[in-house]
Amino acid sequence: MTIPTLPESVLLAITLLEQASFEAYLVGGGLRDSLLGLQSEDYDLTTDATPDEMKYVFSGYRIHEIGIDHGTLQVIIKGMPLEITTYRSDGLYLDHRHPQSVRFSRSLSEDLARRDFTVNAMAFHPKKGLIDLYGGRQDLQNRCLRAVGDPLERFHEDALRILRALRLASKLDFSIESATSKALFQESRLLSCIASERILKELLGILKGKAAGRIIMDYFSVLLCVMPELNEKDAEAIAKAVEQVRSVSHCQLAALFHRTRPDERRDMMKRLRMDKRTSQKVLKVLEGYSQPLPQELPAIRRFAGQYRDVLRDIISLKEATSDTQHLSAFRKKIKVIAQRRDPLSLDDLAVDGEDLLQEGIPNGPEIGYVLDKLLELVYEDPSKNTRRSLLAYASEVSKNGSQ
Ligand code: ATP
Ligand code: MG
Repeated sequence: MTIPTLPESVLLAITLLEQASFEAYLVGGGLRDSLLGLQSEDYDLTTDATPDEMKYVFSGYRIHEIGIDHGTLQVIIKGMPLEITTYRSDGLYLDHRHPQSVRFSRSLSEDLARRDFTVNAMAFHPKKGLIDLYGGRQDLQNRCLRAVGDPLERFHEDALRILRALRLASKLDFSIESATSKALFQESRLLSCIASERILKELLGILKGKAAGRIIMDYFSVLLCVMPELNEKDAEAIAKAVEQVRSVSHCQLAALFHRTRPDERRDMMKRLRMDKRTSQKVLKVLEGYSQPLPQELPAIRRFAGQYRDVLRDIISLKEATSDTQHLSAFRKKIKVIAQRRDPLSLDDLAVDGEDLLQEGIPNGPEIGYVLDKLLELVYEDPSKNTRRSLLAYASEVSKNGSQ
């Protein structure tokens, strides 16, 4: 297993804390991923310095008090944000998510004991080496997630760990040790105690992971606790679609929801507090997906114009769900349309509303009506997309009236 080479900013943070007589170690995902030889997304450090003591040590650096009540400061060192947390032990958990209180501690082992999985509960120091009290290194070698301590208790304390387990197993393509896995199923109803934003964040992490398909299949009943609109009998189809679809979140979400009704997916996205932009994209992908692919050129142009921003996602989802009727012919025609730069939406027309006003078409709904007619015209025959032809046609349709 790789000996982690720590970024300069991590080494400097450890040195600065030690020069002030404190202890400091790299912990969490940064260490886990480095040991696996993976590029880390972020680095967490743990120290016996309290937040006030840390503020003193890092007084020359930019500090953000991102979780000061839980002992966490973000310190920017050489442009890299580091999350540094005081050793702590958690009090009782009464709401299945947050400890009633946290107590700062001077003991590294106490701090490691509160962490979720053995592979996340190691600490590393460039000179002292790896501190591994729970067999995390062995579990890393076996590519296995195992709760620290009694898994039932740990999931009961904080149900978010259930989704963290699925997200990490998906990201790293790890198995979940059997007692941990069993406990996770057993406690999954407690997911109702977790805030929607956190659920969504972990869900997106699960979908993005390289073992997303397997995790969805194996833990479908857990996902049902947060998305009861999904149907158990669709598990396999959903897993396959998520795994094969384009790796962008709105497309993966569309794959996840592709067997549901529009009202069901709307409810789920609302409940998960998904941002408007993403949810609209998901709905649009699924709306386009639900339609048979057109085969005639004008209809293809109309379809491509209507779903322009998600066309790739619709094709990808059709492919991933083996809904491939007419797909290759459709793709070929889309390619030709793109190469010829056929007009697909109002923005592509050689005239705009302003031009129509100048032609004497009255302001108001008639402008929209005529523009739509022009678009229909160029869908049929893109060569008509010239100012001259369009203006001539505009006055013709306008004379005929917008009724
Ligand atoms: P990544 O950053 O790759 O998403 P991570 O494991 O670093 O994964 P963070 O949320 O950054 O996740 O948390 C850092 C560390 O804090 C974890 O590795 C773990 O030791 C501990 N931790 C985070 N959340 C929990 C939790 N809910 N219960 C127990 N320990 C946790
Ligand atoms: Mg992290």
